[in-house]
Amino acid sequence: GPIQESDLQNLAELGMGNGGSVVKVEHIPSGVIMAKKIVLIDAKPSVRKQILRELHIMHRCSSPYIVSSFGAYISEPNICICMEYMNKGSFDSIYKSIGRHEQPSTRIQGTEESTEGPIPISIVRQAAKRVLGGLIYLYEAMGVLHRDIKPSNILLNSEGQVKLCDFGVSGELENSVAKTFVGTSVYMSPERIQGSDYSIKSDVWSLGITLIELAHGCFPFADTEVDESPSDSGTINSALLSPASIHTKRRSRRRSKGVSEHGGVNTLSILELMHHIVREPPPALITPFIPHSKDFAGEAAQFVDQCLKKNPNERKSPRELLAMSWMEDEGREDELDLKMWARTL
Ligand code: ATP
Ligand code: MG
Repeated sequence: GPIQESDLQNLAELGMGNGGSVVKVEHIPSGVIMAKKIVLIDAKPSVRKQILRELHIMHRCSSPYIVSSFGAYISEPNICICMEYMNKGSFDSIYKSIGRHEQPSTRIQGTEESTEGPIPISIVRQAAKRVLGGLIYLYEAMGVLHRDIKPSNILLNSEGQVKLCDFGVSGELENSVAKTFVGTSVYMSPERIQGSDYSIKSDVWSLGITLIELAHGCFPFADTEVDESPSDSGTINSALLSPASIHTKRRSRRRSKGVSEHGGVNTLSILELMHHIVREPPPALITPFIPHSKDFAGEAAQFVDQCLKKNPNERKSPRELLAMSWMEDEGREDELDLKMWARTL
């Protein structure tokens, strides 16, 4: 039968985002461990029912690259979505925890002062391949765009599986949450920032930004400091900033090159960051030199380049990206085993 609040026992707090929080729970009747996402929404009962209907699409998803859904229900004033629990968490918390244990000598140039560490490029490669699989599944089998690709929505488990969560199945949910958090993300493509029609290519842009963040161990617009005081952007306040933009603020003082070169000041409002993404050349992946690895690093940089074409017509589709050489598994003797790597975390 459908999942009920009374059947769930809270085990641990998994994390907090802008839209709500996620709790590890046990479904007592079945003994299944789940992740329960609690979203505070501002909507009439009729809209809430519509959201539940839309969330039902998640039930029909069946892909090794998409977290499975156990059901959603209303628990006033929240909507709760019960999904597959991924025991290694999301790639943002993974890269942030790696940094704390790693030797400084293994860091790539430019990140020496970072407290956060990069994900090995061969793991980034394997994760990218699975994200593409998930995007293709959502688009071709379910007819939806993901709309929120970023490290915190890419999850890992100790089987070495990589799966997407928080995809845009419910337009009504997005509308209702939008009042408590901004629908603006620093992973958004230039065309989406500009309010143009967007497509699967917009998810590809977000993937490109995400891959740089994982491989470098920091958000690519690392010098951007978000000014939380109301300034030129009277309609934007601190409650509307995404966690990614806030965490760039925390680190930004330690950095010396990047956006500040253009603006002269080291402070960017979220609007200025959006303008920067629209106006300036896209960021690029800089990979460390890997001995005996053919042109591994070059392949990765080319792949990310193709994700970050500012013009969506020039940007490759997920299927075109899958056909690029970096996605070929053959002949990668130095490849880390995803499952073994996951178990080291
Ligand atoms: P935002 O609200 O901006 O989208 P977010 O993705 O970090 O940010 P949530 O979606 O609320 O916010 O997720 C909070 C955290 O919970 C994630 O960062 C992730 O680490 C963890 N999490 C989410 N879903 C799962 C899951 N199915 N299994 C394990 N951990 C999860
Ligand atoms: Mg999320």
